Amino acid sequence: MAFLFGSRSHDAGKWVDELKRGLPEMEFRLWPDGVGDPADIEFTLVTGGKPGMYKDFPNLKAIFSFGAGVDHLMRDPDVPKDVPIGRGVNASLVQNMTHYVVHWVLHFHRGYHRYREFQGQAKWQALDFVYPSVRRVGILGLGALGTDAARSTAALGFPTAGWSRDTKSVKNVESFHGADQLKPFLARTDVLVCLLPLTPETTDIINAENLAALPEGAFLINPGRGSHAVEDDVRAALDSGHIEAAALDVFRTEPLPPDDPLWAHPRVYATPHVASRNEVDVAAAHHAENVRRVLAGELPRPLVDRARGY
Ligand code: NAP
Repeated sequence: MAFLFGSRSHDAGKWVDELKRGLPEMEFRLWPDGVGDPADIEFTLVTGGKPGMYKDFPNLKAIFSFGAGVDHLMRDPDVPKDVPIGRGVNASLVQNMTHYVVHWVLHFHRGYHRYREFQGQAKWQALDFVYPSVRRVGILGLGALGTDAARSTAALGFPTAGWSRDTKSVKNVESFHGADQLKPFLARTDVLVCLLPLTPETTDIINAENLAALPEGAFLINPGRGSHAVEDDVRAALDSGHIEAAALDVFRTEPLPPDDPLWAHPRVYATPHVASRNEVDVAAAHHAENVRRVLAGELPRPLVDRARGY
């Protein structure tokens, strides 16, 4: 019985230490050079793995993902269909994403992007104060991350709605669901946040048509995936002023190439896919708990629904 771990990040050593603390009886192997006999591998937690690698492990009991998104695994036809995939969603990932969302909602709501421009011109000018009660936040995706972010923006006094596949019941959050309710959801949204998984249905969802359905002067916050947004359409909407400003954490090409016009756009706030982060001890304890669950004959949580692709 062995657990295959792979990461090139600076804190890979801490990850292994924390995983070993939670699973003292487990043998750990390191991907790619220390796999050993592939038949020993029962659990994997590998970032930056090679497509096709999972078919090499005949005794796999579960695959774990570092983060919430599993689009890389869904794209790989060799990921065995009968092996459960546990997403790396835990309290730390959720809380850190909510901080990112709340930060940008408040930044745009209070006009700090404008005050920064005024500062550059030594201009002492107050903007009209917009009450939070009239700034409507809309979150695409009311899953683990979207629901917590929605609860938080609602608690800050912003009328908040979420859009998901099935209808949801979240206190103080209006629920829109399904393709038919996307346009009405967008029409009531002044600050659009994307926390959808990347699937064939959600690819390119932030496009010219859907951006046009937002009210004039709306804001965009995208910590979902780069391929949710048609970047030329986002830039065009910013240039026309229909979208006043955007906070973008994810891009179709990562790292964002140095000559990409989004870097220099005065109303774009670009960050390098850092909207949320796992705290290693919390995340490793969550994976260890999932290993014990699987060994006890249960499924890992949260579990990827292979039919839905997230
Ligand atoms: P989740 O729990 O799986 O929730 C996904 C939500 O999207 C669900 O509410 C789901 O609806 C909805 N959805 C999916 N497909 C839909 C469709 N076709 N139409 C309408 N709604 C749809 O995912 P999560 O854990 O919250 O994570 C969300 C995403 O955040 C991840 O997939 C990842 O891309 C991104 N992320 C980014 C970072 C970063 O640092 N930038 C970090 C972590 C995560 P139902 O509930 O009805 O199924």
